[in-house]
Amino acid sequence: MKSWPEVYIPSIDSRYIFPELSLQNTASQSIQVLPRKKMYRMYVCGITPYDSTHLGHAATYLSFDLINRYLRATGSKVLYVQNITDIDDPLLERASRDGIDWEELAYSQIDLFRSDMSTLHVIPPENYIGAVEAIPLVTKKIEQLKEAGAIYGVDKDLYFRVHSDPDFGTRSHLSNEESLKIFAERGGDPERLGKENPLDSLVWLAQRPNEPGWPSIHGLGRPGWHIECCAIALNYLLPEQDSDFLIDIQGGGSDLIFPHHEMSAAQARVSTGRRFAEFYVHTGMIGLDGQKMSKSLGNLVFVSSLVRSGVNPMVIRCALMMGDYTTDRLWNEELLLTAQTFLDSLTVQLSHNQCAQTSVLIQEIIQALSNNLDTKKVFALLADWISESSKGAEGGNPGELARTLDALLGIAI
Ligand code: ZN
Repeated sequence: MKSWPEVYIPSIDSRYIFPELSLQNTASQSIQVLPRKKMYRMYVCGITPYDSTHLGHAATYLSFDLINRYLRATGSKVLYVQNITDIDDPLLERASRDGIDWEELAYSQIDLFRSDMSTLHVIPPENYIGAVEAIPLVTKKIEQLKEAGAIYGVDKDLYFRVHSDPDFGTRSHLSNEESLKIFAERGGDPERLGKENPLDSLVWLAQRPNEPGWPSIHGLGRPGWHIECCAIALNYLLPEQDSDFLIDIQGGGSDLIFPHHEMSAAQARVSTGRRFAEFYVHTGMIGLDGQKMSKSLGNLVFVSSLVRSGVNPMVIRCALMMGDYTTDRLWNEELLLTAQTFLDSLTVQLSHNQCAQTSVLIQEIIQALSNNLDTKKVFALLADWISESSKGAEGGNPGELARTLDALLGIAI
């Protein structure tokens, strides 16, 4: 699948010191330092293309973009892979509800997503892989799981025995009761007759009437969602043979912690005998005017609608970075106005020849980002700098600050 265009990243002067990046790790339930490496392997779960790109999506991909930008600025390479679930129940349900062809819906939404990511200055993944194009990888992965004794059939569908992974549950930390409840809410089928364990997850769905199916050694059908990500990540992130973990970062919204990330990690563990990700990083949900933003409430705010109505994409970027990425946040008109005012003032001060000192500020920005992407602190530091500059303080280098903000925060002015 074609990714979106590359984003220009200015370089940052080598006199600045980049501390190791620490991130909130869902698996360890703590903020942990990501060990310094020459290359990082990061997998971030992509969208199912039927309601792209709402602000919840944007907030997630912006957060991982900050991680990507920070790690690259330290001189490391980041191998970044993202999937797109271009066949799944929710996509078929939406296409059927709207009376349109599912492929047409998927293609149009994928195009929109790419253009939104480009507009928001998000660095594209090296590999952007669709579920359909990954079917050969998925069937191979199912074969490996079968050899490990972790697969059984219910009718013509195939299921993964979750407890074949001795670590099952260690990434999401839920009780069995909570797991069952969330599994049912998020596309799982705990009640299905014939399953050995209610939490066992579907890896291959045999073709249903009036639904698409693809030929495979497992019969005509389509992949389950969790195995899709497991197969894509392990194929395209080229895990090292001798490292403790197959990849460095598995990322996504907090609604993917369970079952999605737990299941993918379990399938990776059982099929390779090795642990999947060292870090599981999750972003908070975005709510609107005090309510959760969700499909069912019909209150999604889309990046493309905001941009069409005249909002500068960099304002959206600033607004989403003004809060803590790990916590649930609210979107409202006031936040948008605050971000607009902030960006206007920043632009004015960066356009002057003289401004308040910038060297210490840049080092402090780097320090704040290294501390679990403390963008709240970054915006507070910038607000102080804007205030001092507007009072006539001198001694700074506005060009260098502008390049740093572009490189690390993706704010291109
Ligand atoms: Zn995924």
